Amino acid sequence: MAGQYEVLPCPFCEKGQITCLYFPSVISVKRTTVGSNRSNTPRKSSEAWIIQSGCSVCGKSADEVEKELKRKEII
Ligand SMILES: [Zn+2]
Repeated sequence: MAGQYEVLPCPFCEKGQITCLYFPSVISVKRTTVGSNRSNTPRKSSEAWIIQSGCSVCGKSADEVEKELKRKEII
C-alpha cells in the first residue's frame, strides 16, 4: 500500500511545513447507503497519517506535531 505525501502547516507556528505520509482509507472505501438518515460525518479514524518530520521553524519534533495535529483534529 502506497501512501501519498502531504505537506501540512505546522500547528504550532504555522510557518513550518510538516511532511506527512497520508494513507487514505482503503479498507472501507465503499460506504453502504442503507440507513441514509445517518449524518455523513467523515471518519478520520479510518485514515492513517505518518508524520515524517518535525518543524524546522519552531523546532517541534514530529511526535509533538502529530499530537497537536490530532488534538486540533486536523488529522
Ligand atoms: Zn513550527
